[in-house]
Amino acid sequence: AFDVLVVGGGPAGASSAIYAARKGIRTGLIAERFGGQVSDTVGIENFISVPYTEGPKLVAHLEEHVKEYDVDIMKAQKVVALRDGADGMKEVELSNGAVLKSKTVILATGARWREMNVPGESEYKAKGVCFCPHCDGPLFKGKPVAVIGGGNSGIEAAIDLAGIVEHVTVLEFGDTLRADAVLVKKAESTANIKIIKEAMTTEVLGENGKVIGLKYTDRKTDETHVVDVAGIFVQIGLVPNSEFLKDTLELTNRGEIVVNSHGETSMAGVFAAGDVTTAPYKQIIVSMGSGATAALGAFDYLIRN
Ligand code: FAD
Repeated sequence: AFDVLVVGGGPAGASSAIYAARKGIRTGLIAERFGGQVSDTVGIENFISVPYTEGPKLVAHLEEHVKEYDVDIMKAQKVVALRDGADGMKEVELSNGAVLKSKTVILATGARWREMNVPGESEYKAKGVCFCPHCDGPLFKGKPVAVIGGGNSGIEAAIDLAGIVEHVTVLEFGDTLRADAVLVKKAESTANIKIIKEAMTTEVLGENGKVIGLKYTDRKTDETHVVDVAGIFVQIGLVPNSEFLKDTLELTNRGEIVVNSHGETSMAGVFAAGDVTTAPYKQIIVSMGSGATAALGAFDYLIRN
C-alpha cells in the first residue's frame, strides 16, 4: 500500500510525485500516458527558466526527474474508480481489475481540448491548428488568424491575439456570443477583430504542411465562405478527464474537480491538481505548482491522521 498514490503523469502528477517522494513517504504514480498533454506539444516558450523546449523533450526530463526518487511508476494503466475502502484506505481500481490501496490519493488526470471534428483539423494540428493562445499566439505575429468559438475563452483569445497578429476573425456557431458582455464590448471595439455569427466551420484548408485558411457555412444563407488565415485557434471547450469520478466527489457542472487552496477535494484524503481541477489558467507551470500544493497538502493530512 502507498502513502500517496498519484493518478496522472502530466506536469501536475510528476510534480506531485516528486514533492511526495521527497518527504520519504511511499509514493506511486499511475498514468495512462506519461507526459499527458505535453507529449502533444511542439514548441514550449513559457516554461520559466527554459526559454525554449519541445514537448517530448520536457516529458523526458519530467520522467528523469521523477526517477531520481523512489516512485513506483505504473504506465499504461487506466484508473476507472476511486472509493473509500472498509479499512480506511482509499481504493483505486484499474481497468484491468486490479485494486491499489493508498492512505491518500492525488488526482492529476488533466484535460483534453474539445475538437471541431472537421476535415483537415487533425492533419494540421500544430501546423496552424492550435488550442492555446498563450502558448502559440506569438507564432502568428503579423499574420491573420481565426478563433473558433465565441464563449469567454474564444473572445479572450481574440482580444489577446489582436495585440500580436495582423487580424482575428472570430467564428461563432450560434446567433449570439456567450462571452461576458465586457469582453464582447472590448472585442467589438477592437479594430482588427471581426466577429461572424451563425458560422459553422466545415474544413481546415492547408498547403505544403501549413494552414492557409478555413471554410465555413453561413447557417442563415447556407452559403460557403473561405477565410484566409495562417492560424486557427479552436476555443470550444476544455474537457476534464474526470468521468470516472462523477459519483465519487464534488465536480462542477463542467466536470472540474472542486479543490480548495490546499488542493483538497470534497473527499477526505483525496487531493487534486492541474487541468482536471477548478484552478484557473491551464498551463504547465500552473499545473506543476498545484501538483506541489496537492502533495504538501497530502503530507500534511498524513501527519495529522
Ligand atoms: P495532463 O497533461 O493532461 O496529464 C494528465 C495525465 O493523466 C496523463 O498522464 C494522462 O494519461 C493521465 N490520465 C488521464 N486520465 C487517466 C485515468 N483515468 N487513469 C490513469 N491516468 C489518466 N501549456 C503551457 O504552459 N505552455 C505551452 O506551450 C502549452 N502548449 C500546449 C499545446 C497543446 C497542443 C496542448 C494540448 C496543451 C498545451 N499547454 C501548454 C497546456 C498544458 O499542456 C497543460 O496545462 C498541462 O499539461 C496540464 O497538466 P496536467 O498534469 O494537469 O494534465
